[in-house]
Amino acid sequence: MMGVLGGTFDPVHFGHLRPALEVCQELSLREVRLVPLRQAVHRPQPLASPDQRLAMLKLAVAGEPGLALDDRELRRVGPSYSYDTLVELRAELGAEEGICLLLGADAFAGFLSWHRPDDILGLAHLVVMRRPGDVPGEPAAMDEALRVWAVPRLCSSPAALAEAPAGRIWFQDVTPLAISATQIRRLVARGRSPRYLLPDAVIALIVGDGLYR
Ligand code: ATP
Repeated sequence: MMGVLGGTFDPVHFGHLRPALEVCQELSLREVRLVPLRQAVHRPQPLASPDQRLAMLKLAVAGEPGLALDDRELRRVGPSYSYDTLVELRAELGAEEGICLLLGADAFAGFLSWHRPDDILGLAHLVVMRRPGDVPGEPAAMDEALRVWAVPRLCSSPAALAEAPAGRIWFQDVTPLAISATQIRRLVARGRSPRYLLPDAVIALIVGDGLYR
């Protein structure tokens, strides 16, 4: 099975990296690919350029075999839809291999407003990572429409993900890290240190390029 974590990564931080690595190991994924988006659909556009976000991600995953970088959305013009990315990945990996789309609980809360949510689940499983301070990643905290949609697809153990290439939803406990890129951009803008929230090498790039000031 292969994992995919999409996002703006503006910048990438330990709240992305640690949960992604934990999911990779808990679910015995081949790897988790971090997929930076080019043009956001549901949120303001990133401040750092595609090249800067890619460079930060490269530094962040260097030397970690469980995490890889996939720049296909940056190379695609127009809005970055996870659906399009999953169609491409499915074509590359074949019909049999499981694909797990990782997303934070906050992202999952809005999932039904994504482009073609049902078709996304036809292409991949959803692995929801709990994120502190946001909507807790539990079925009880989903709104009614999401609950009605998700409950029949929830699996009772992660082993069920390996039995199909797509179509199931699993809530994965990960170390709760209340870190957000917004918080980091605000700290840098106020001249405060973001140290220990993200890799030092990424901070060095932010400082060197004068990002988020
Ligand atoms: P911003 O603060 O700019 O909105 P962010 O920190 O939420 O950014 P994104 O790049 O938008 O980062 O997130 C990509 C994916 O990672 C989303 O699915 C999001 O829910 C998840 N994610 C981000 N931060 C965390 C965290 N601390 N714990 C768990 N999941 C996270």
